[in-house]
Amino acid sequence: MPDLQTRTAELRQLDDQYNIHPFCDGKELHERGATIIAKGSGSYVWDSDGNRILDGMAGLWCVNIGYGRDELADVASSQMRELPFYNMFFQSTTPAQISLAKRLAEITPEGLNHFFFANSGSEANDSIVRLVVHFWKTEGQPEKRLFIGRNLGYHGSTLAAVSLGGMKAMQALGHEVLPDFHHIPEPHHYVRGGDLSPEEFAKKAAAELETKIVELGAKNVAAFIAEPIQGAGGVIDPPPGYWPEIQRICRKHDVLLVVDEVICGFGRLGEWFGSQYYDVTPDIMPMAKGLSSGYLPISAVAFNERISEALRMGGTLTHGFTYSGHPVSCAVAEANIDIIERENLVPRTREEIAPYFRKVLQQIADAHPLVGELRGQGLLAAMQLMKDRDSKTFFEPSEPVAIDCRETALQKGLIFRAVGSAMVLCPPLVITRQEIDELADITAASLDATAKAYGIA
Ligand code: PMP
Repeated sequence: MPDLQTRTAELRQLDDQYNIHPFCDGKELHERGATIIAKGSGSYVWDSDGNRILDGMAGLWCVNIGYGRDELADVASSQMRELPFYNMFFQSTTPAQISLAKRLAEITPEGLNHFFFANSGSEANDSIVRLVVHFWKTEGQPEKRLFIGRNLGYHGSTLAAVSLGGMKAMQALGHEVLPDFHHIPEPHHYVRGGDLSPEEFAKKAAAELETKIVELGAKNVAAFIAEPIQGAGGVIDPPPGYWPEIQRICRKHDVLLVVDEVICGFGRLGEWFGSQYYDVTPDIMPMAKGLSSGYLPISAVAFNERISEALRMGGTLTHGFTYSGHPVSCAVAEANIDIIERENLVPRTREEIAPYFRKVLQQIADAHPLVGELRGQGLLAAMQLMKDRDSKTFFEPSEPVAIDCRETALQKGLIFRAVGSAMVLCPPLVITRQEIDELADITAASLDATAKAYGIA
């Protein structure tokens, strides 16, 4: 990319001149300049200076099959030539869209066979809010319109998705949480567990849902939404026993269970979906990201029989997006699913690569004075950085320890994500053992450099 290299400074300048970046401090960006990613292949990306970087975040938790798949480019190209666009409004659709829906029904958990299509995880969750309220009206229970989410939950950036989520910083931007949205604490044993065993804490954390339902009145509560593992909140995997309890409580109170599979879906935990990993049966399941491995924007919401039947019979569904079921995105998503299946990426993750990933990270976490906890499951992990792990002293929010560690890792050729004072990893499912070894070496070296900078030995 010699051409690009000479242009990095110019691109940075143009970026600064014209772009408003999501999830970014504009002033800091102005001073630092954006990292410009120009190319990708397998588990690696290249910046515009030609540096090869191991992508420990699969883009934005999404490039499950890795970069550079010509097969998907070919599928997109032929679908564009055949039919670049048609919509699903007003009693129409396309062959590519129907084919994807049928394929999804084959891989989603039993009972989830009807799909609504959108373009992002946020749109999927926003759609859920509207369609669930409509569902309860058609059931003759219009007062069921309250939603419960969790602190540190992430469900997207639209108004309804931010309200479902529990990110205080997002809720502070521009708009308060919408009325009708409530939250319970996150099931993070390391932070909130005290002297309880993980199993005891799981019961306590799940009981917080029942307390909230009772407080609001079960007759008013429409749905509870949760990620199988809280991703953007810092990779918080619940202790054993949490999910079965949550499901039991939702069923008991006839509260719909929405399991947000936007990160955990499509093999991340070594099952097709996180709900299968935790053995729960959602009523509603939003998915995005890994659905197309990020090659094109697309999301879908799976509904169970009870809800889809009511939606079918509930009159005109006055909801949808121009690009709901976009044929090119659908064709690419189906080809992506074919690749995940053909290359056995789900069993490979479960049996081979995730156990290796976790073993290697656990060795680092156990040995390193900066790491208090390794959490996550499958190919999703976070290391909690601690000021003093023995006395369990956390860094102050004003101490940018994870950002410093992330920047060090980037210089050494690895993309991490910093969440609070935790280092998050979510590599492509195609990552090899050799690449995991490289990831581990850079992780250890970056932790060493950060520990030194913060005077921790
Ligand atoms: N749900 C979850 C669990 C997510 O992680 C995300 C994105 N990180 C979303 C929803 C929102 O997806 P999008 O950014 O595509 O709107």
